[in-house]
Amino acid sequence: MDVLKKIPVREQDPKERATNFKEVCLGYNQEEAQEEAQRCINCKNAKCIQGCPVAINIPKFIAEVKDGKFEDAANTIAESSALPAVCGRVCPQESQCEGKCIRGIKGEPISIGKLERFVADWSRENGFVPAKPEKTNGLKVAVIGSGPAGLTCAGDLAKMGYEVTIFEALHEPGGVLTYGIPEFRLPKSGVVRPEIENVKKLGVEIETNVIIGKSVTIDELMDEEGFKAVFIGSGAGLPKFMGIPGETACGVFSANEYLTRNNLMKSFDENYDTPIAKGHKVAVVGGGNVAMDAARTALRFGAEVHIVYRRSEEELPARVEEVHHAKEEGIIFDLLTNPVEILVGDDGWVKGIRCIRMELGEPDASGRRRPVEVPGSEFDMDVDMVIMSLGTSPNPLISSTTEGLETDRRKCIVASEDVGATSKPGVFAGGDAVTGAATVILAMGAGKDAARGIHEYLSQK
Ligand code: FAD
Ligand code: SF4
Repeated sequence: MDVLKKIPVREQDPKERATNFKEVCLGYNQEEAQEEAQRCINCKNAKCIQGCPVAINIPKFIAEVKDGKFEDAANTIAESSALPAVCGRVCPQESQCEGKCIRGIKGEPISIGKLERFVADWSRENGFVPAKPEKTNGLKVAVIGSGPAGLTCAGDLAKMGYEVTIFEALHEPGGVLTYGIPEFRLPKSGVVRPEIENVKKLGVEIETNVIIGKSVTIDELMDEEGFKAVFIGSGAGLPKFMGIPGETACGVFSANEYLTRNNLMKSFDENYDTPIAKGHKVAVVGGGNVAMDAARTALRFGAEVHIVYRRSEEELPARVEEVHHAKEEGIIFDLLTNPVEILVGDDGWVKGIRCIRMELGEPDASGRRRPVEVPGSEFDMDVDMVIMSLGTSPNPLISSTTEGLETDRRKCIVASEDVGATSKPGVFAGGDAVTGAATVILAMGAGKDAARGIHEYLSQK
């Protein structure tokens, strides 16, 4: 074994997977996991833990994997994370735990994410169930939204003895894990649902089809329904558009709608009566994880897919692994290119996009070099579908129906950094609703901090 290199992980062949919705990465088996775990040198001052927003005791669980004590490893992870099979698959480990791993200085860091995934999958396959608290303290807490922030906050509060109810607007819980991230990266029935079931086994109730701000307000929950505190984890599900001509044509989707139709309404499954329009040549505008997911979904429906992104490859915000997978599968990258108009046929459907070439100028406020239009470089691309993936912001429904809840100019809820306390007493918030679109693990970290904050708040009352 070369200790400087990761044990490679098995993946579905790119040609084969480009035509199906089955999971791309197959994960480690027991032997591979134990071999990878042997590379960890069990640092005393483990930098990897500092890189993990929920502070999993990484060296401890890796040592347990090395010794074949998989149930102990599952317990170690469960102390800090309610969603290890999810995080092991979708966390940006390269910039978090693995980015800090000491092994990464001379060689490749430990595959912490793949080991976490192995332990979580092993637990599920072997019927490991987290322990339920013995009795509750009788205090009711409401959690709005069942994404990673809400699930984590609810799970942690339930472990402390609170009676927690999650209110979810959609008919399925899970937030972006269920409606956003595609099946081929994060299987729903095999991975997401069992982890949600584990949260329910801690005693958490989930009520779906309840839109807070429409079905019931936060004030009603607190004044009339006996909830002593509320956590808002309602995410950032409102898509942005470019504001260019033709954007309202048939065949223009937000990535959010496109992915929701596929994941939640199962348009990829012939047994469902909720199909989606399938393009022959599709342009996905944007360069983040969401753009990669939309592009790879359209590819699986048989389209030629172009990522249209206004900066260069270096600035692509998507995870390196996602870009690599997208390229392997045959996605075409049209970089330093920006749409200026969507061309619409007489039938009202998209028939192309007019783009302009870009070049990189001086760095902007984000530190990345600013894309500048090259005058006179417009050209047309024939496409029959456009998917806009330009980011999302929080839906203002909750803030507009809750008196005393402060938001900033981006419509994000203002909350304290340490425990997510908002301007309204007893109301806490975290995840994308506070930060704008971010990551699963940051949302989980915020849910954890808020659970601590709610406990402190209610203990002082
Ligand atoms: P969400 O997951 O958005 O959950 C919020 C929930 O609240 C939703 O279920 C929503 O229906 C519900 N809700 C909203 N309003 C109300 C209301 N009024 N009443 C009741 N319920 C309400 N992150 C990564 O770390 N790695 C990735 O690979 C990755 N890929 C992504 C791919 C896609 C396509 C998308 C869209 C995001 C991706 N992200 C990824 C980002 C990550 O999923 C989010 O940062 C994370 O899910 C935020 O969690 P949250 O709990 O704050 O919100
Ligand atoms: Fe192991 Fe790397 Fe963490 Fe050190 S920093 S304990 S080598 S995973």
